[in-house]
Amino acid sequence: MRVLVINSGSSSLKYQVRDTDTNEVAATGLIERIGEGGQAPANHGEAMDQVAAVLEAELAERPLDAVGHRVVHGGERFSEPVLINNEITRAIERLNPLAPLHNPANVLGIRAITAKWPDMPQVAVFDTAFHRTLPEHAWRYAVPDALYRKYGIRRYGFHGTSHEFVTGRAAELLQTPLDEFNAVVAHLGNGVSLTAIQGGESIDTSMGFTPLEGLVMGTRSGDIDPSILIFLQRQGMSADEIDTLLNRNSGLKALFGDNDMRAIVDAAEAGDEHARTTLAITSYRLAKYIGGYHVAVGGAHALIFTAGIGENSSAFRQLVVDRLGALGLVLDAEANQVRSKEPRVISSAGSAIPVLVVPTDEERAIAEATTAVVLGAHG
Ligand code: AMP
Repeated sequence: MRVLVINSGSSSLKYQVRDTDTNEVAATGLIERIGEGGQAPANHGEAMDQVAAVLEAELAERPLDAVGHRVVHGGERFSEPVLINNEITRAIERLNPLAPLHNPANVLGIRAITAKWPDMPQVAVFDTAFHRTLPEHAWRYAVPDALYRKYGIRRYGFHGTSHEFVTGRAAELLQTPLDEFNAVVAHLGNGVSLTAIQGGESIDTSMGFTPLEGLVMGTRSGDIDPSILIFLQRQGMSADEIDTLLNRNSGLKALFGDNDMRAIVDAAEAGDEHARTTLAITSYRLAKYIGGYHVAVGGAHALIFTAGIGENSSAFRQLVVDRLGALGLVLDAEANQVRSKEPRVISSAGSAIPVLVVPTDEERAIAEATTAVVLGAHG
């Protein structure tokens, strides 16, 4: 099948055309600054017109069979990919308060396609869906039940498409049946999340009600004492200011002044103290969580690194694994330096469990899920 994968953000639209029979990427692109004036498209509809214009020759040769959308929040209703219709679009829209930065943009992307190609099958693939298997003791916060019933305040977890894809690949590489596979998956990109996998399923994950909880990220703080928010509010900061502070101006950006891990590693190697402290805070927090999740899954069979930092930064992987000596993890220094797009083992033969690098490919996973739903619906 030929699938257009759409990942629409508030002012951007990323797209890929994939052939799910051959896994070929026929086209890929990014439209930015939507709605920001100048030459930029005024809205997501215009952005889709641009995409269609760029793809005209490609699509004339072979038209699309379906469109797959990355949708960030599926709430409690959506536990798997679904074929989109008007009711589904409205249901996704009703989840806007849970993901105010993301879901409204996802809905705009869906509506733009519906307006352009009304008969095109569209599938929503949810970032939260893989974490539907979290047990209550992992998803429930220790706050009054009314908050859950009234507002849906609970842990949902994100990056699910990536965690699921990477888990499947790792099980294949290790020749372990997926339903017997326990692992800890570290998705280390601009957003960072860790997932505890037991029997191939997500049983805990570090992001929570929103993608702000958990580890130190590019511009997000991860866990902090909630009293800090109350304190800052009492100092006169508004909810919007605190939101911006913790989501956009914290994490690596706050600690070092730049959220690019390459710059931080280079500066640390050149002796910069800020950079060293930033790496220490970030790797320490991650190692603590990995230890916790190793226990949560009853003993992981593998530790898996993925996404921009996890796939590319041998220095950061080394820092993290150096803190995991108590678990018996040891990297093979040479294997850790290998650069490749293939899944691989980077631990030494003496390591208690294998440490893997497994490149993620969310677009591929979305295209494949879209194909499965469309074939299922028509078959
Ligand atoms: P992602 O969100 O998966 O695209 O990952 C983005 C992050 O990956 C950024 O923090 C980049 O600094 C980081 N990254 C990409 N390439 C490298 C590299 N070669 N070394 C270190 N970090 C990298």
